[in-house]
Amino acid sequence: MARDDEPIIEVRDLTAGYDDVVILEHVSFDVRRGEIFVILGGSGSGKSTLLKHMIGLDEPSSGSVVIDGADIVVAEGDARREILRKIGVMYQSGALFGSMTLAENVRLPLEEYTDLDGDEIELIARMKLELVGLAQFTGHLPAEVSGGMQKRAAIARAMALDPKILFLDEPSAGLDPITSAELDALIKRLARSLGVTFIIVTHELPSIFAIADRVIMVDRRTRGIVAEGDPRRLRDQSDNPWVRQFFRREPEAQPA
Ligand code: ADP
Ligand code: MG
Repeated sequence: MARDDEPIIEVRDLTAGYDDVVILEHVSFDVRRGEIFVILGGSGSGKSTLLKHMIGLDEPSSGSVVIDGADIVVAEGDARREILRKIGVMYQSGALFGSMTLAENVRLPLEEYTDLDGDEIELIARMKLELVGLAQFTGHLPAEVSGGMQKRAAIARAMALDPKILFLDEPSAGLDPITSAELDALIKRLARSLGVTFIIVTHELPSIFAIADRVIMVDRRTRGIVAEGDPRRLRDQSDNPWVRQFFRREPEAQPA
């Protein structure tokens, strides 16, 4: 059994890409239990690629991703399923099924991965939607609620199986600043009250400063981590010009 003070995720020497193109090279970092950990970087820097490798969706060319004591890169069969049961994911494209109500969307993972009966599943789906403030909207179709509410419902669906770890890929993409701030507040509340570890991909600075305990910044020029730690410290003290540029929203001097 993993100890409490052990990191919940250990990424070691991960090299990954597509076909012959290397996107990330020899990347290593830890995610601590219960923290809100943010992966940031410019468009195309490999944030989604890193996330997909951390959840075992893509296989790296080398390296390991140890989740709660087990390496998802090599795990197969039941061992793999056991790891996957611990994680919930909201993909960047992670839309709800439009023809299904919010409750039906949240029921899906429960129907697929548990032996619970219909009433139990209904109850859990309702509880999860309550948790994200959507108790009044369980019977609505996605198109009948706002973009922010759709994101919250997608988070409820990702939490259906009570994951220890939640991965969110650009949760506030396409939301206005106020809705985005509400989503940040929800994420923070869920992390603090449930002890869920969050790994969030974003490049939205207000979000990063609002919720991140720690960040790593990936950069396509080095194919790796160029900064790691507390976002305010990085903004104020980093001696890396790319990092300062990013945090101060300065345009790039030259195209890379
Ligand atoms: P980010 O999420 O930081 O915007 P991605 O991880 O999506 O970046 O992409 C990193 C790089 O990998 C980009 O150059 C992108 O075009 C490329 N890429 C992403 N997905 C694929 C794929 N399935 N096949 C080939 N190249 C990809
Ligand atoms: Mg992405």
